[in-house]
Amino acid sequence: MADYRILLLGPPGAGKGTQSKRLADEYDLDHITTGDALRENKEMETEYGTPAEYMDAGELVPDPVVNEIVVAALEDADGFVLDGYPRNLDQAEFLSEETDLDYVVFLDVPEDELVDRLTGRRVCPECGANYHVEFDQPAEEGVCDECGADLVQRDDDTEETVRERLRVYRENTEPVVEHYRDEGALVEVSGEGTPDDVFDRIQDVVEN
Ligand code: AMP
Repeated sequence: MADYRILLLGPPGAGKGTQSKRLADEYDLDHITTGDALRENKEMETEYGTPAEYMDAGELVPDPVVNEIVVAALEDADGFVLDGYPRNLDQAEFLSEETDLDYVVFLDVPEDELVDRLTGRRVCPECGANYHVEFDQPAEEGVCDECGADLVQRDDDTEETVRERLRVYRENTEPVVEHYRDEGALVEVSGEGTPDDVFDRIQDVVEN
């Protein structure tokens, strides 16, 4: 199997996490996600304070903290799917010094749909599975189908923080999308429809 190096870009709520997990399973790639890594170390003291102070406000965690996570993860990976990084142009430049990429895929979802997706999202704190209170309910309300744990709402999925995350995305991460578009590297895929629909579209890009 080819060791693909895939970058998945898109706004918060576009489905990057869901699709990255599927890509990692399908092609036996490492799933490198700064968001999950930071959530696991939310209370870690750094010289900039804890990640939680930034995350719960919807702001970006300082670059040195996230760059270090990515460097460590890339060292161990042959093929990978990168999810949630880079989120600003400085991170994109840092990444380009660390590795080449085979595919840069942009998941496109209209903004009004993102707010509904994020505020209704529920996650499993044990296995990371995602659900939605309306669009993707578990068999038993509030309980993970995969592992039986109680589902929770992410601290940053409240409406106020979601709106700030989208503002931060527009200000910092849209220029990253433009950067890859200008390079001719960006492949745009609609992120609307079911997770299966979206995965089919991404597979088309990777395999053709
Ligand atoms: P995510 O799970 O990707 O939505 O990330 C959740 C939060 O983690 C973000 O709102 C940021 O506070 C932080 N975070 C994740 N990835 C990065 C990154 N590449 N740069 C800065 N902060 C990040």
